[in-house]
Amino acid sequence: MNKTRHFIVIGNPISHSKSPDLHAAFAQQVGIDICYNRQFCPNDFESFKAVVEAFFGGGGVGANVTVPFKEMAWQLCQGHISQYAQAAKAVNTLFIKDNKLYGDNTDGRGLVNDLQQKGVALKGKTLVILGAGGAARGAVLPLLQADVAHLHIANRTIQKACELACLFNNIKTNTQQITYSDLASLPRDIDVIINATSIGLSNERLSFDCTINAKVAYDMMYGRPSAFLAFFDKQNSQCFDGLGMLIHQGKLSFEMWTQKAVDLRGLGFDGCFAPQ
Ligand code: NAP
Repeated sequence: MNKTRHFIVIGNPISHSKSPDLHAAFAQQVGIDICYNRQFCPNDFESFKAVVEAFFGGGGVGANVTVPFKEMAWQLCQGHISQYAQAAKAVNTLFIKDNKLYGDNTDGRGLVNDLQQKGVALKGKTLVILGAGGAARGAVLPLLQADVAHLHIANRTIQKACELACLFNNIKTNTQQITYSDLASLPRDIDVIINATSIGLSNERLSFDCTINAKVAYDMMYGRPSAFLAFFDKQNSQCFDGLGMLIHQGKLSFEMWTQKAVDLRGLGFDGCFAPQ
């Protein structure tokens, strides 16, 4: 018998989340019966812990975690986490493994998988990531594993960019250089520039020197007009928003939870961007 498996995405706010639709499509493709709900939670650790415990205590199979709970989820797993969650100090995927709550972070691998599916080469390239928050932290290890030659991390608070760069400087990869700066001092010739700041969620915008040249611009944000992509679109960069990253991180979570492989072709999801 095909027993219904229960999943949730926990966030605050959460009503906008596309995850239930994504996972419903994945489940339909692989032929299993799921119930995937949006779960609002008050923004404090005790409430988050109570929601997670009630869900898994009641037989829930897997939970996605979104803003602002990824760091709390990392704390809750108490070291029972993947190398990606450890590097990011943030968890977006929860399930029970060896009778204990286990945390992974699929955001960074989702980003890399999306770039690769879009035909964007990373190996040997110069890549700039703007931001040093949870999303940027999650992206660094998968980007290094994709063998970028030079990774530059730029952040408004330079100290955080410095800390993030230093965290990975001792990890053995094929990347030759990890550098950092504030947002005003970027390398001139960039293969791929990724916006991992949350500035697009406010009315502010990043300003760039017009001499900056990037072959590809990728905004992790999706579903809103992007001033970042509008700037690079005018520079004739190839532009992508973060919808594909969302789809790929969800695919990875789903496959971990169900042990069933999803084929994104033919599911009708398509990455697109809306310049401002
Ligand atoms: P976060 O942890 O809150 O980090 C926010 C980052 O943005 C920090 O580096 C912060 O710099 C910077 N920032 C905020 N306001 C700024 C401003 N006015 N000017 C310049 N920099 C500013 O957020 P996050 O979780 O990393 O999320 C970042 C973005 O990625 C969001 O748009 C989120 O929606 C998106 N995201 C997308 C996906 C997906 O699947 N597509 C997944 C995860 C995240 P300071 O350090 O100086 O404060």
